[in-house]
Amino acid sequence: MRSPELLKPWLNSALPWQHGTLERLSSLEQQEKLPHAILLTGARGLGKTQLAASFATGLLCEARGVEPCGSCASCQLAGGGAHGDFRWIAPEEGKRAIGVDAIRSAVTFMQQTSGYGSHKVLVIEPAEAMTAAAANALLKTLEEPPGKALLILVSHRSGELPATVRSRCQRYNLPHPSRSSTLTWLAEQTSCSEPVAERAYSLAQAQPLTAVQLIRGEDLASKEALIMALDGLLDGSKAGPEALAALNGYDLDVILEAALQSVERRIYIADGDRVLKADFYRRDKILEWLIANRKGINFGRDVILPELARLLVTDIQASMNV
Ligand SMILES: [Zn+2]
Repeated sequence: MRSPELLKPWLNSALPWQHGTLERLSSLEQQEKLPHAILLTGARGLGKTQLAASFATGLLCEARGVEPCGSCASCQLAGGGAHGDFRWIAPEEGKRAIGVDAIRSAVTFMQQTSGYGSHKVLVIEPAEAMTAAAANALLKTLEEPPGKALLILVSHRSGELPATVRSRCQRYNLPHPSRSSTLTWLAEQTSCSEPVAERAYSLAQAQPLTAVQLIRGEDLASKEALIMALDGLLDGSKAGPEALAALNGYDLDVILEAALQSVERRIYIADGDRVLKADFYRRDKILEWLIANRKGINFGRDVILPELARLLVTDIQASMNV
């Protein structure tokens, strides 16, 4: 179960850039045209989890507004993680995968009659954390959901989901807010100065919630050092041993995620396909390690980090004979 803090509806007002998506979903619900399975996609740090919590608790709320009222019995129960018609599945503490047992128990929950005569809501977050067996166990419920059921699958990397799961959901992609509105929002949220907001915005790759975390966590300088080490390897301005030393102290997942972002940034700004081919190769390789690491396959940090440094510095064009 998700931390009750997140599910407290009064903490879950939709973020400004989510209003469009939330209103579309609410209007479908009012016309009784809400799909049974929704896939919420978009980059990490856009607030998909908050949107799922807000929409789910709003559906169960007795006041029936677009957003949850926060004070009715249903909102109180949902906020305490105790609402009988609402379940939230996420990886257990200290784990990265969602296993088949959690999904089987959620499927049984969905089949039981609603205790309040309204919707039964199941959120799976992030959906790509489901093991293959877990995803399989969910298919039948996705295909033929019982009664007034709603499944919300939150996904940061929907490409990792089995096609059988993706095709059974209606997809809503959360947009990035504009640069200027994000900078204004960051200043409102954190009272930071304009240069700090701009630095966090760029380091967070335009993802507002990631930028807030950077500003509040005071680890702006630390994230900057990590990205400089990785970018230094990529552009040849840093030697392998020097960059590897700079990676000490960071979690492997954080390093791989940052390396992926550095490579994706290069792909985004690249000009000409010779550069792209090498960077697409790098991106796929890093993604492979990242997924393996998140699925708990342990190659060992001592093996992966030198491999990563080699991957970033090597002239892949030459070695691929492109
Ligand atoms: Zn309410």
